[in-house]
Amino acid sequence: MPYRAPVSDYEFLLRNVIGYDQIAATDLFSEADNDVVTAILSEAGKMCEEVMAPVNRNGDLYPAKLENGVVRTSPGFSDGFKAIAEGGWIGMSAPQEFGGMGLPMTLTTSVNEMMSAACLALQLAPLMSQGQIEALAHHGSDAIKELYLPKLISGEWSGTMNLTEPQAGSDVGALTSKAVPNGDGSFAISGQKIFISWGDNDITENICHLVLARLPDGVPGTKGISLFLVPKFLPDENGNPGKANSLKVVSLEHKMGLHGSPTCVMHYDGATGWLVGPEHGGMAAMFTMMNNARLGVGGQGVGAAEGAYQHAVAYALARKQGKTPVEGSGMIVDHADVRRMLLEMKAEVFAARAILLSCAVAIDMQTATAEPEWAARAALLTPIAKAFGTDTGISVSQTGVQVHGGMGFIEETGAAQYYRDVRVTAIYEGTNGIQAMDLVARKMMDGGEAAFRLLDEIQDQAERARGTKPALAEAVWQSAETLRETTEWLVAQKDMNTRFAGAVPYLKGFARVLGGHYHLVAALAEPEGPRAKLAEFYIQRMLPEHAALLTHAQAGAEGLYALSVEDFERG
Ligand SMILES: Cc1cc2nc3c(=O)[nH]c(=O)nc-3n(C[C@H](O)[C@H](O)[C@H](O)COP(=O)(O)OP(=O)(O)OC[C@H]3O[C@@H](n4cnc5c(N)ncnc54)[C@H](O)[C@@H]3O)c2cc1C
Repeated sequence: MPYRAPVSDYEFLLRNVIGYDQIAATDLFSEADNDVVTAILSEAGKMCEEVMAPVNRNGDLYPAKLENGVVRTSPGFSDGFKAIAEGGWIGMSAPQEFGGMGLPMTLTTSVNEMMSAACLALQLAPLMSQGQIEALAHHGSDAIKELYLPKLISGEWSGTMNLTEPQAGSDVGALTSKAVPNGDGSFAISGQKIFISWGDNDITENICHLVLARLPDGVPGTKGISLFLVPKFLPDENGNPGKANSLKVVSLEHKMGLHGSPTCVMHYDGATGWLVGPEHGGMAAMFTMMNNARLGVGGQGVGAAEGAYQHAVAYALARKQGKTPVEGSGMIVDHADVRRMLLEMKAEVFAARAILLSCAVAIDMQTATAEPEWAARAALLTPIAKAFGTDTGISVSQTGVQVHGGMGFIEETGAAQYYRDVRVTAIYEGTNGIQAMDLVARKMMDGGEAAFRLLDEIQDQAERARGTKPALAEAVWQSAETLRETTEWLVAQKDMNTRFAGAVPYLKGFARVLGGHYHLVAALAEPEGPRAKLAEFYIQRMLPEHAALLTHAQAGAEGLYALSVEDFERG
């Protein structure tokens, strides 16, 4: 079933739900008006439909492989990457002085989501480059920016991020890779990195690795980590790829899904690299890339959910089985339970997309206005956008398999690929558990101020909706009140493990309430249309889950330690 880019859904969301007009009203983004939005989304949508979606199955059937130390990518991926690069989609939000388009992240996020729906494994390549571009633009020296940014933006070169080591996953501070000064301004980087996405390819002329390593005087933990740019080929005096650097791909991982994305074990053996950002300031510099990637990975989840939803609808319209309440139909789409599944999928995609794009709006407004409230909004929404977007990718693609019945378990339909491909998005870029802990700890260091400000807006909006949609408005208002009370309870907890024990249900409950809010705004924009009907479905049937989740969030840590480790092992 061919992918259809949901351009009108984005346009509706941007114009009616998440306040894109605020962005276009700033000096910085004044050129990104409605006409530009339509042109960008339509062009990108076309590329996703015509170039990327047709190679999606290739990635699954013919995984990337390692041949004589070089990664060979799946058939069609090279042309796909080149189309992405030539379209300018890598550098959409990159600085114009280096060849980027300087467009809002909100548009980049929309386009990235479409690309993820079309071919997740391939989309991960430009996503890695985008994060690197942002990190170098913020923290790179002028020389690094001038040499690397134009090539990364044009797609001649590509970027990777190297944090993970066998003993250092979520605990990045445990990494042991070393960096020793060469005395000429460069450094010799040594160590092993695992799970490096797109660590090598046969598409781009050079591959630029951003590597976290420790200088000889770096203290243990995250405070002693520095960030280095380590290219596969050292640029010659003209800036072209020259001598091979001392690094190699040791092996590729065999994965559950996302087979088209080469996941590499990398070995650095005194490889030449250059410092990015200050010595021992690597985590701060890498965080620029990670925050970008977190939004991007949230978008991967939403994109996969959209793709899975479209697949499921097409199947439900084609498959006939049994007698349905709709006279003469027989299509499974007319069975009540199949309707429930499709509506849950559609409503959840809408909610996750609205949260994702609201986070992007906050990032753009922060960039354009430098107002601390927008920075706090972006920081608050980032873990929710990442975790809820990817959880949605998993739950929706899993339901997509169910809609297909037995054929969902059979690979030819492609339903299972969405599920297998998207599963990792809840794990990489900080597991969703780590995202939730970030939300209840760091993002509540303001005493919950940013969360309460958002809840004020949600309740004000619900008050305004009472005249038109009283029942929906009341449900959303009450859910925001429950979330407010839970947040008050949360910030009063001084014991962090008490907060952590309920972090995941808190994040999920928060997302449910946000979803209710955005559905309500959509219902007001189109009070009689299908968007209002979808909002009714979500608010009446899915929003109530917030209450159970937020009760769970307040249950504390003690009960989690009630069983001993031996009890876990015993039958
Ligand atoms: C396909 C793929 C691609 C990847 N791409 C990249 C890449 O490009 N670059 C890169 O650097 N890395 C990459 N990774 C690595 C990825 O980011 C890590 O797998 C992830 O951060 C989790 O680390 P881990 O696997 O060591 O799990 P662990 O850290 O061992 O976690 C295991 C479990 O314990 C939980 N846990 C761990 N610590 C805590 C804690 N303090 N509190 C509560 N729970 C905790 C986790 O949430 C998880 O459920 C990739 C991984 C995969 C599978």
